[in-house]
Amino acid sequence: MTTAHILGFPRIGSARELKSALERHWKGKLGEAELHQLGRELRARHWAQQKAAGLDYVTVGDFAFYDHLHNATALFSAAPKRFGFDAPLTLTDYFAMARGTAAQPALAMKKWFDTNYHYLVPELSRDSRFVLNRDWLLPEVREALALGYKVKVVLPGPLTWLWLASAEPGFDKLQLLSLLLNVYYALLAELRALGVEWLQVDEPILSLDLPQAWLAAYPVVYRELAGAGPQLLLATYFGSVAQHAPLLKKLPIAGLHLDLVRAPKQLDAFLGDWPQDKLLSLGVVDGRNLWRCNLAAALEKLHAAQTVLGERLWVSASCSLLHVPHDLSLEQQLDPQLKRWMAFATQKLDELALLKRALNEGEHSIWRELQEAASALEQRRKAATTQRPQVRGRVAALKESDALRAASFDARIVEQRAALQLPPLPTTTIGSFPQTGEIRAARAAFKSGKASAAEYTQTMQTAIRIAVERQEALGLDVLVHGEAERNDMVEYFGEQLDGYAFTQFGWVQSYGSRCVKPPVIYGDVARPQPMTVAWAQYAQSLTQKPMKGMLTGPVTMLFWSFVRDDLPKSEVALQLALALRDEVCDLEAAGIRVIQIDEPAIREGLPLQQADWPVYLDWAVRAFRITAAGVRNATQIHTHMCYSEFNDILPSIAAMDADVITIETSRSRMALLDAFADFKYPNDIGPGLYDIHSPRVPTAEEMQTLLQRALDVVPAERLWVNPDCGLKTRGWSETEAALSRMVATAQALRAQLPQ
Ligand code: GLN
Ligand code: ZN
Repeated sequence: MTTAHILGFPRIGSARELKSALERHWKGKLGEAELHQLGRELRARHWAQQKAAGLDYVTVGDFAFYDHLHNATALFSAAPKRFGFDAPLTLTDYFAMARGTAAQPALAMKKWFDTNYHYLVPELSRDSRFVLNRDWLLPEVREALALGYKVKVVLPGPLTWLWLASAEPGFDKLQLLSLLLNVYYALLAELRALGVEWLQVDEPILSLDLPQAWLAAYPVVYRELAGAGPQLLLATYFGSVAQHAPLLKKLPIAGLHLDLVRAPKQLDAFLGDWPQDKLLSLGVVDGRNLWRCNLAAALEKLHAAQTVLGERLWVSASCSLLHVPHDLSLEQQLDPQLKRWMAFATQKLDELALLKRALNEGEHSIWRELQEAASALEQRRKAATTQRPQVRGRVAALKESDALRAASFDARIVEQRAALQLPPLPTTTIGSFPQTGEIRAARAAFKSGKASAAEYTQTMQTAIRIAVERQEALGLDVLVHGEAERNDMVEYFGEQLDGYAFTQFGWVQSYGSRCVKPPVIYGDVARPQPMTVAWAQYAQSLTQKPMKGMLTGPVTMLFWSFVRDDLPKSEVALQLALALRDEVCDLEAAGIRVIQIDEPAIREGLPLQQADWPVYLDWAVRAFRITAAGVRNATQIHTHMCYSEFNDILPSIAAMDADVITIETSRSRMALLDAFADFKYPNDIGPGLYDIHSPRVPTAEEMQTLLQRALDVVPAERLWVNPDCGLKTRGWSETEAALSRMVATAQALRAQLPQ
């Protein structure tokens, strides 16, 4: 008999119950007992769903009040010393580390591999010590057992947890391994005593490029853990682990999980001589995307594996279902055809149960469902090919020259300087200005039909006028319209592009109580009409100064959406690029002389293994260039990125060939600039002079020091002055105070420049 299971389930609740409860708890409006009660209810509900769908085990340990990696940190009592917490850690301690206290900043947050989920980074030092916290995880296991379930417990593997932690400088955190293993050892014994059959140990770092010392630790760790408790299912996901096949075959584990959605070919490296005493769990249902599974194709793969493995075949989703929304059946407004193509976490449980049934009882036992899935797929395929032939045609007809500006930067910048007549060290901002309550209310009223289009336009124009007046008063050189009309930098464009759809409840956890609802790219992307031109034109009409047009770039549009899986991402990026290119050209035709194309997600798209970087960077850079390259030399293209970590991709950033790049540097005290200088970044740069993520207004001296540092490494004629990101989350008073200091700083240094 084939076994079906999942690696994890979304924990936020189908109505985001956990989100609202957490936020009330943090405000002191919901007690800890009530919060625990809700946790129990959510777990019970999600286990019941797994059981009712027909899965063989319920997965316990995927629930977290904030983050599953942080749960492990609490389970190991691994609070950093600076918090001064005594073991055992309480829920209050857990939240304090997650959210910070008056005296201590929170643990850092990092993106979970290449997802949009963020984990809390454990903080280790040479004196870190670990103790099993019996108030954590074990009560949940007892809960599930008491409800009568067959339980598989899930836990981050010791090497993955260690790898994801930060360590004090100069300290090799691998030295903590044996101390950490003691805790696992104690935990495994407890789980065995409780009668737990299976422990799923997540080791997703195996799909990264790992140093030899870490790989060498695997046999040591698993020799230690084998036999200490339940049988071990080692779970890998998000990429191929084929390169480690010899290592994995020799580990004393009882089973291995492979992500066959991300890396279908890796199965070949395992199936041939997979040891008789181990099972393989094959992740064939996509845990990262919301499309329905191609059951027939999955079964073909599974049947082939079944011939080799027999009962040692398990079926699963590629990774935890944490990364997909909860339940498709809640959607009331989705186009029915589109809805028929989708499966959220709840529906994916049913898909797994169907696959299992087909394997155990033959395909005829699910022929009706197979037929329905095939017909939905056929419908999708047809719709895709007949949808917008002109879009496909345009992509196919793209030439090398479409990605090239007419002249090189050196020639362009001369024309741009002549056209724009800016002073040295020109000042600008990144795009958005404070989204006031009034602006939000106007948008909500318009959306719900309570305000007319004319009223809405009027309110937005007023917001734009105020933003322009304030920028003029501040003395900024290149102005922006302020993005009042944008709810979100991706959603705003998605709503106006063909090929995009929006769900009502398609929430996925981003971090803690925060969820995002990514738009869905389901079809060929096209732009029926201009999206930003009227606002930009209105804004430009209010001022003599250059008004910067503002767009979200193709790569960011792609990575912050759920993307169709029937076309390569690179191709979808080109469709987006062409739609945005038309917008860029229309802005230029409307008299906009500076256009910014934001690409904060370009780094997020980087593949997990460095060998795959060049191919990705190549198409990502090309998509950006195609977006930008349709304009005259005198039109200035800006781009913006939000972080300071791209030393390793600088050649690609330069290859984007934006005339000006604005980047975040203030928090790293301009450290990034050295990299730009060493690399000899050729075009203009605007290093962020102050951190907009905090309401604090930096002093004039701080800004001066930063700008002076920038001047040391970037020639004055190529240096811009700006904050490090958009200002939409700030209030006007701190914004005006900070910008006025920024402008004064630029003016003061300008006066000292050699004429
Ligand atoms: N133009 C956007 C803004 O100012 C950029 C935001 C971002 O890069 N995340 O809000
Ligand atoms: Zn930014």
